Amino acid sequence: MNKIFVVSGPSGSGKSTLIKMLTKDHNSILFSVSHTTRKKREGEIDSEDYYFITRKNFSDMIKENLFAEWAEVHGALYGTSILEIEDKSTGDYILILDIDVQGAEIIKKKFPDSLHVFIMPPRISELGKRLMKREKKLNSDFRKRLITAEEEIRIGRSGSYDHKIINDNIDDSYNEFSNIFRKYMRAVSMSDKNNSKGAGG
Ligand code: 5GP
Repeated sequence: MNKIFVVSGPSGSGKSTLIKMLTKDHNSILFSVSHTTRKKREGEIDSEDYYFITRKNFSDMIKENLFAEWAEVHGALYGTSILEIEDKSTGDYILILDIDVQGAEIIKKKFPDSLHVFIMPPRISELGKRLMKREKKLNSDFRKRLITAEEEIRIGRSGSYDHKIINDNIDDSYNEFSNIFRKYMRAVSMSDKNNSKGAGG
């Protein structure tokens, strides 16, 4: 069984912080490294944060059916390779995917047992403030990100996420987030045990 834990949410929702905290607390987690055509930011490491590739290489990978899902976000292409999923989501590990709402929908269809969490900012105005601070540092298009964020929240609210967390206070949100993860961890290990029993007759 593929053990996949999907986390989505707009930029500035606090999603990356929650994932980092969870990864620190659990050694059974592997992080899915996506391919992207966006430029590398300062401090990012190729093959660790993303596989940074050209549009031409990305198109070739699409043609060769190498992606489990891919989407265009803020004008760049992002995708999770099939290899990444097959390599890291079986055995003792649970694979975390930090992907947008479009990609999450595809993963849910392909892997119905995957668990999906949507992280939301408490208010759009709060998101605006967080984004303005961050995007200034990143020197990217703040307005484009805010529009995408609003659209993501609309889809996330109505979408088929198993859990939605409103990230007002990071400690409370982390409690909720890690409880959801622990529950999923128990559920998948139980299902694995049942499967191996069944296979053995
Ligand atoms: P950033 O450029 O800030 O690292 O990421 C922008 C957005 O792209 C985030 O919402 C992130 O979740 C999403 N993203 C990152 N990797 C993937 C991927 O492989 N597939 C999809 N669909 N979205 C991704």
